[in-house]
Amino acid sequence: MKENVICEKCGSVMGPIVPDKPVGSIGMECPKCGWGWATTYIEPKYEDETVYKVVLDRGSDATKENIKVIASIMNCNYLRAKEVIADAGFILAEGKAAEIEESTRLLLRSSIKYYIEPEWPY
Ligand SMILES: [Zn+2]
Repeated sequence: MKENVICEKCGSVMGPIVPDKPVGSIGMECPKCGWGWATTYIEPKYEDETVYKVVLDRGSDATKENIKVIASIMNCNYLRAKEVIADAGFILAEGKAAEIEESTRLLLRSSIKYYIEPEWPY
C-alpha cells in the first residue's frame, strides 16, 4: 500500500489524477482545495511500434450484437460483417497497440472469440 499524500495547503488526503487520455496528465490532486500537480505521462503502449493483428477465432456466434461489433471495427456494412464472423482466421484489425486497443475494447463487450498476434502484453 502506498502512503497517503497529504495536501500541503489544507492537510486533506490527496487523490491521484487518473489519466483519461492516451497522452494526458498524471499527478495528484486535493479533492478539497484543488491544489496539486501534474506531469505529462505517456503510457508505454502508445510508444510501442509493434504492429499487432486481431484475429477472429473459431466459434464466434453470429448474433446481431457480434455482427455489429465487427462491422464497427472493420468499418464495413452488416452483410460483410456477417460473412466475416463465419471466417475463422480472418484479420479483424491490424495496427499499433493504441489502435488495437480500441478494437479490443469493443470485442471484450461482445462474445466474439479472437486472439492477438504477436502476444498482447497489455
Ligand atoms: Zn488541499
